[in-house]
Amino acid sequence: MSLKINEIYYSIQGESSYSGLPCVFVRLTYCNLRCSYCDTEYAFYDGENLEIKEILKQINSYKCNLVEITGGEPLLQKNYIKLIEELEKNDKKVLIETGGSLTIKNISKNTHIILDLKCPSSNMEHKNLWDNLKYIKKTDEIKFVIGDKIDYDWSKKIIKENDLENKCLILMSPVYDKIDNEEIINWILKDNLKVRFQIQLHKEIWDKDKKGV
Ligand code: SF4
Repeated sequence: MSLKINEIYYSIQGESSYSGLPCVFVRLTYCNLRCSYCDTEYAFYDGENLEIKEILKQINSYKCNLVEITGGEPLLQKNYIKLIEELEKNDKKVLIETGGSLTIKNISKNTHIILDLKCPSSNMEHKNLWDNLKYIKKTDEIKFVIGDKIDYDWSKKIIKENDLENKCLILMSPVYDKIDNEEIINWILKDNLKVRFQIQLHKEIWDKDKKGV
C-alpha cells in the first residue's frame, strides 16, 4: 500500500495552534485546486511512490511524536487514511491540513484537522465543501487566508452565519506579501472576533521560497 510523497522533513510547525513546536512534515503529491497565492506548486506533480512502511521508517527516523500530513491536497490519495491509522498506532499525534474541497468525514477522530475555507481572492471559493462544517470537531481548526478586505468581510460573515467561534478554533492568516498584517489585526480587534491571527512562521525564519522547512 503506497502513497505518492513529495517530501518528508523535520522542522517547526508554523501555521496552526501547534505553531512553534518541532514537527515531522509529510507532503503528499497532487492538488485539485489552484489557489492564486499557492506557494507549494512543486507538490502538484513531483514525488515518489513510497510504501507506507517506508514512510513510517522515514518519519520514525526523527525522534518526534508530532506529524503533519499536508500537500498539495492530502485527501486526494485514499491511502492517507491508512497512513493516519499506522501513525496513530505508533503513538503519533497527527495533524492534517486540507484545502477544504474534499470530505473530512472519514478522518479518524483523534486526528487534528486544519481545514481551509477558501476566500474569494484565492479564486477557489466555489470549491469549498460546506458539508465539512458538520464534521469539524471542537479541537479542530478552520483557517481563512486573507488577501484583502473583501476576503476579511467574507470570512467574518461565514464565521457568524455558522457560529464557528463556538464550534472550533479559527485561524486568520495574511496572503504573504499581499496585505499588511496590521490591517487584518485592526479589523479583528474592531470586530472583536474570536480568532487567532497567525503568520507563516517559516517564511519569517528562512527564505520565503526555501523548501523543506
Ligand atoms: S490547496 Fe494548497 S496546495 Fe493546493 S493550490 Fe491551494 S494553496 Fe496550493
